[in-house]
Amino acid sequence: MVLTMTEEAPFECAMCGRCCSQRLILLNTEDVFRMADHFKIPVPQFMEKHGVVFATTGTSKTPRLYLQISGDVCPFFKDGCSIHEIKPLMCKLFPVLKPGQTAGEIKAFIKKHAHSEGVLSCKMLTLPDNLRLAVDREAMITSVIYDSMEIIYYSNLERKDMQFVRSLLKALNRDQLRAIVSDYLFNGSKESGLVFEQAMFEMQALCQIADWKKVPYLVAHEGVAMEPGKIYVLVSPEDARRIYNLSLQGEVESVISNTNPSVADPECTFISVAMNTKGDNGLMLAFPAANADLRNNSTDGHVSLCFYPADGSMDDIGAVKAYIDPNTYK
Ligand code: SF4
Ligand code: SF4
Repeated sequence: MVLTMTEEAPFECAMCGRCCSQRLILLNTEDVFRMADHFKIPVPQFMEKHGVVFATTGTSKTPRLYLQISGDVCPFFKDGCSIHEIKPLMCKLFPVLKPGQTAGEIKAFIKKHAHSEGVLSCKMLTLPDNLRLAVDREAMITSVIYDSMEIIYYSNLERKDMQFVRSLLKALNRDQLRAIVSDYLFNGSKESGLVFEQAMFEMQALCQIADWKKVPYLVAHEGVAMEPGKIYVLVSPEDARRIYNLSLQGEVESVISNTNPSVADPECTFISVAMNTKGDNGLMLAFPAANADLRNNSTDGHVSLCFYPADGSMDDIGAVKAYIDPNTYK
C-alpha cells in the first residue's frame, strides 16, 4: 500500500500485549460499568477485586480512575487480552491517542511516558516517522466526551457517585453530543469548535448542579420561574445569602450577561451572567431558560435576576439587573 503524506494508515496492532504492563491504565466511568456488567458483579466489588483506584498522576491534580497493575502485567492479560470485546477505551485507542498524529509523534509520546520496557517494543516504533495514523473514531469521540466530563466532575466535586456521570450523559442527549464532538474532532471548523465549547460549558454547568459546594461559579438549579421583567433563579442557600448580602450593600458593580442557544436543548437559551463585585473575585452564574418563557417575560431583554435559596430558607432575596440579548430567544 502506498500512502501520500495526507492519507491516514490504520495501525495494525501486533497484539503482543507489551503495552499491557504499564503501571496504570486510565479508565473512564463507562469502562468500569461495562466491565463490572460483563463480570456480573457490582461496581464497588469490581473496583476492589481488580485494583481500580482513584489516583492522580504526573502534574494533574485531578484524580481519575485507573486500573492499577500490581504484578508484571494486566490481570486481564491471558495469552492476549481476555476481555478484548469490552476492554477499556484507552486500550482500544492505544497508541493512536489523537486524530492526525504521525508515527514520529506517537513514538515520542511512548518513549516519554513508558512505565515499562515492554511498551518500547510496540510495533509503532518500527513505523516511518512521517506516516500519519488513523484513529479509532468511535472510541475517540466517546473518550473525549467522558474525559471532558470526568475531568470537570472529579476536579470540582468530591462525590464518588459515578452513577451521576452516566445519568448526565443520558440527560444531555448523547447522540447530539456525539455528533458535535465528532464534528469538532474530525472536521475542525471554527464554528463547530465554538459549538463544542458551548456544549462543554453546558456540561460543566450541569455537572455543578449536582453538588454546589466549592464550585468556582454558581449554577442555577434546573428550572427557573419567570414573571414579567423578572427571572427567579434557584441557587444554593449559601450562594443566595452571599448575593443577598452583596446586593444589599450595593457591592454588585456591574452585570455582564452572555446568551447562547443551548446545545443540549434547542428550545432553551443558556444564559451566563458575570457579576463584578467589590472586594472579591466576582461571581459567575449559568442557567438554561426556556425560550418561550423568555419571550413572554422579557421583550426588551432587561430583567431582574432574583436569587432564591433552593431550600426556601430565606424570605428576603437578592436581585441584580441584567440584560439578555432578545435576538437569542426571538
Ligand atoms: S485490559 Fe486488555 S488490552 Fe487493556 S491492559 Fe489489560 S490485557 Fe491489555
Ligand atoms: S505494544 Fe503496541 S503492538 Fe503490542 S499490543 Fe500494545 S499497541 Fe499493540
